[in-house]
Amino acid sequence: SGTLNPLQSINEEIFSFAELKQKEIDELRKLEAFRKEFIADVSHELKTPIFAAQGFVHTLLDGAVNDKNVRTKFLKKAAKSLDGLDALVQDLLTLSHIETGQIKMHFETIDMVKLTEEVIEQFEEKAEERKIKLRIDGHPHKVIAYADWQRINQVMTNLISNAIKHSSEESEVLISFEVTKKNIITSVRDHGEGIAQEHLVRIFERFYRVDKSRSREKGGTGLGLAIVKHILENHKSKPEVESVIGKGSVFSFRLPRAKPEED
Ligand code: ADP
Repeated sequence: SGTLNPLQSINEEIFSFAELKQKEIDELRKLEAFRKEFIADVSHELKTPIFAAQGFVHTLLDGAVNDKNVRTKFLKKAAKSLDGLDALVQDLLTLSHIETGQIKMHFETIDMVKLTEEVIEQFEEKAEERKIKLRIDGHPHKVIAYADWQRINQVMTNLISNAIKHSSEESEVLISFEVTKKNIITSVRDHGEGIAQEHLVRIFERFYRVDKSRSREKGGTGLGLAIVKHILENHKSKPEVESVIGKGSVFSFRLPRAKPEED
């Protein structure tokens, strides 16, 4: 007859329940693997500056402290390693706050030009050192986005800092805005070393660096672009990059345009 065998229906239910559980287990396994990998990465990254500082301090204690020239040199090196450690922990905290949602996003209408001017001001001295010009491109419309000011300030800080670090001397870092009907597209363009194609797809991963020793030398933590990516994710957006080796790179991202009042 047409009635369902009750046993069969129970069987099916158990089966689909087991399938569901298996999916959850797979998901948990993946998370666990990710967590382990993350701890391994972080430990490794922490060890590098600690190991360096330790080396300098112990060498000083072993006698180098008596030589005035060596003393100053080694203390400076130890201080630099500790500064690197500080920057790393700071970036890790930022990343973790964003990931765990501890930082409540505060969306509001923000003037991207004003925000960029604020960021540029902080970098004037650093840019000056290598005769790099920071310029905001002309823009016919008001550039008002709907976003979290503080977080987007962080995004621009990281992108402009990178642009300066990787620029050629006496070149220009250009920030421009494209205003479409619904979006604001912000680009940071440098005229520097550029990034090879094989690296481009990976630079937003945490701790991924094209040149590890140079990144550390320049005070990089390897987390700048991972932070950028996470913040933009919280804005339902993502960073884009285009680059030509020897010519330079353009990093850009899209934000929703605030309801236009008047242009
Ligand atoms: P870092 O602390 O090393 O700068 P980031 O996450 O900010 O870490 O960047 C990751 C890597 O991407 C850098 O090590 C660098 O090799 C590369 N990179 C980032 N921005 C640029 C740029 N504007 N030009 C060339 N390379 C860049």
